[in-house]
Amino acid sequence: MIYVDIIFLLTGAIICAFLSIFAVASIGEKKLRAAILSAVLLVIVYAVWFEGYFIYIPDPEILLYILIAITLLFALFFLPIGQTRSMEIGELSEKVDERDIIFAREEYLPGTEKYEKYYSEHPELKDKDDRIRNLPELLEPGGKYYNPELAVKIGAKFEIIENMLERVDGEANQLPVAVDRDKMTSEIKDLTRRLGADDVGIAELDPMFVYSHVGRGPDKWGAPINNNHNYVIAFTMEMDYDHVEQAPRLPITDETATQYLRGALISIHIAAFIRSLGYPARAHIAGSNYQIMLPPAACVAGLGEMGRLGYLITPKFGPRIRLGAVTTDLPLVPDKPVKFGVQDFCRICKKCAINCPSGAIPTGDKTDVRGVVKWQLDIERCFHYWRAAGSDCGLCMRVCPFSHPPTFTHNIVRAGIKRSSFARRVSLWGDDIFYGKNIIKSGTLIE
Ligand code: SF4
Ligand code: SF4
Repeated sequence: MIYVDIIFLLTGAIICAFLSIFAVASIGEKKLRAAILSAVLLVIVYAVWFEGYFIYIPDPEILLYILIAITLLFALFFLPIGQTRSMEIGELSEKVDERDIIFAREEYLPGTEKYEKYYSEHPELKDKDDRIRNLPELLEPGGKYYNPELAVKIGAKFEIIENMLERVDGEANQLPVAVDRDKMTSEIKDLTRRLGADDVGIAELDPMFVYSHVGRGPDKWGAPINNNHNYVIAFTMEMDYDHVEQAPRLPITDETATQYLRGALISIHIAAFIRSLGYPARAHIAGSNYQIMLPPAACVAGLGEMGRLGYLITPKFGPRIRLGAVTTDLPLVPDKPVKFGVQDFCRICKKCAINCPSGAIPTGDKTDVRGVVKWQLDIERCFHYWRAAGSDCGLCMRVCPFSHPPTFTHNIVRAGIKRSSFARRVSLWGDDIFYGKNIIKSGTLIE
């Protein structure tokens, strides 16, 4: 039975090594609670496992039972147990009018033609939107987390993005060169990554992802949007963990602006490259330039799944990302949607909803929104809070368990969440214990 003793001691060493790595990584993530708890757990496991073995030298049969129990727990954690649902992407039944989105509506100022026209057609939104407009604008004094130095820095980044608008489109340079679809797909993906994207995927452009009418930007308000491109190249950019950890304060907005600037450079470069091959291509950049809805396009392009919080959740960085996109007719090979347990984890988690200061995230089931079954964010409530805070908040992104950095220990947990409903329960329980369930109470941060 000497083998049982060796395996028992090795198993103890592996568990202790895992806890040590977790404790050190938690210090790196500045998660004091997780670091202390994992260190305490390490001491307990070490004492019980090794002291117990060397002092009491238990019966090999007992060691064997302990090992069998641990093997069973591992199997339950990593094997496909229970259901892993896919996103119900479905068929969108109607296009979204960009004039209806909150970022367009906040720009309709009382006394202007747009204001009169829009609210004569949508009187039900007028009071709600007026209340939002009466709050300080983002990055302006009066917001709860206003910070003059950061506001100037962020404003400069958005100004650069606005100045890039004229670069998003143009004539294709020549007659289209013949391309090998597979090779061109790899080339575009490599280039997108080399330019700074963290992941990139391709989807056929569903016409329902294209806004019906212009709501923002330099083009004529209310003009129909004619984007009939065949494909969308969607990409993600990681948001810096330390900046996101400061949500809802202004550093997260600074990081948002930084990534949007990066996204603008990447997409404009990719679109220009494609046009130089003789194919039409248009970059879609932040601010006032999107012709398409990026999150559903990114889902179909295999970059992630839509979560309860209303953002795309990616396998590596969770919702801690920003999106960019190029639409084009360049022949490409589309990717397939992915699933890694988000739909089932979000069902039981609700951490974003519990911590949302505006109550914008539903705690209940998904609903059918224009043919897509999803958790629907109350965007007016969310945006109302943005204006009151003076930032783009991001608390939901900060507390989401998928936002942890892709370290060794978090990746092991993700591997379990992807397959096993048992792992989802245990991971959620562990997340609450190590990181806490609430960081906000009655609209106030508990820190
Ligand atoms: S916090 Fe939880 S419920 Fe919300 S999106 Fe993240 S995993 Fe889903
Ligand atoms: S950004 Fe803030 S207010 Fe908006 S849904 Fe997320 S937590 Fe709620």
